[in-house]
Amino acid sequence: MLRSALIAASRSAGCRTLVERTPLLRPIVDRFVAGSDVDAAIRIAHELSRDRLVTLDHLGEDTLDRGQAEQTVEAYRTVLARLADEGLGGRAEVSVKLSALGQALPVDGDKIALDNTRRICEAAAAAGTTVTVDMEDHTTTDSTLGIVRALRVDFPGTGTVLQAYLKRTEADCADFAGPGSRIRLCKGAYDEPASAAYRDRSEVDASYVRCLKVLMNGQGYPMVATHDTRLIDIAEHLAAEAGRARDTYEFQMLYGVRPQVQEQLAGRGLRMRVYVPYGTEWYPYFMRRLGERPANLTFFLQALARR
Ligand code: FAD
Repeated sequence: MLRSALIAASRSAGCRTLVERTPLLRPIVDRFVAGSDVDAAIRIAHELSRDRLVTLDHLGEDTLDRGQAEQTVEAYRTVLARLADEGLGGRAEVSVKLSALGQALPVDGDKIALDNTRRICEAAAAAGTTVTVDMEDHTTTDSTLGIVRALRVDFPGTGTVLQAYLKRTEADCADFAGPGSRIRLCKGAYDEPASAAYRDRSEVDASYVRCLKVLMNGQGYPMVATHDTRLIDIAEHLAAEAGRARDTYEFQMLYGVRPQVQEQLAGRGLRMRVYVPYGTEWYPYFMRRLGERPANLTFFLQALARR
């Protein structure tokens, strides 16, 4: 219930104003967000890339403004040029949200998002790296997968995300387990109805394992995005059972979450990628992170009470 309330708050303008105007929250925000500009993102990418891989996310989502979608494309072109200049193209890629690129526009949203993401894919190819398309709430899944399929014709390395909490996802994993596919499997971060998603934690975890089996036994490149160490152990076991070499799959975690586990996995020679968000539009991303662990919320409420 708490998680649902925080996800609802992530879309509330009033809560946004309150949270953004509470300076005491800044240290908690900084734990999850690399900084407000491209320099901060590049600095963190350099630090992490000593032992880990990186995916950079320019924060922003749900735009209904075509000009803002255009600015998002430019922000990605800028960061991709910097990755190339700094020799980071082999260690860092980018993650994009289609709702920041025009998907939700009332007229031609899918086409605009496809064209915009294509321009980011071109810049990524020029920088020697790839793009992964994040997955948002379930009403966008079909549109997102359609756009990813279209992008993969010219940019076969384009990755996407499948969410284990959705009942459809095991079948989607089978569809996307072919050669060259890059699928990030996560549990899912939105508040979804019982008609579309498992709502019980144990059901979500069971679905995650079923999806992992499909991906690990497929011909693509599974990206195991979770901080759940039990699922990480299972993923390693399934990869070994499928005869996978260590460079044929990777683990992924969010910036600021379980950094010691990240280091341990990287130290054992496993491929470990960190999702690093940066930018000024941190509010919805931050609220989703708060809902994922009760301790995060305790710090948050203490800071709000002291304002
Ligand atoms: P949980 O059971 O939630 O967590 C396991 C343990 O990890 C917790 O007990 C806690 O100790 C720790 N932990 C987890 N989250 C936090 C946190 N925020 N703060 C502190 N500790 C925490 N979701 C989408 O819907 N779409 C996406 O495109 C997407 N991309 C993602 C990319 C990456 C690289 C990762 C790691 C996650 C992504 N997610 C995405 C979020 C994901 O769906 C989950 O909401 C999130 O990862 C928490 O689930 P979990 O697997 O870590 O398991």
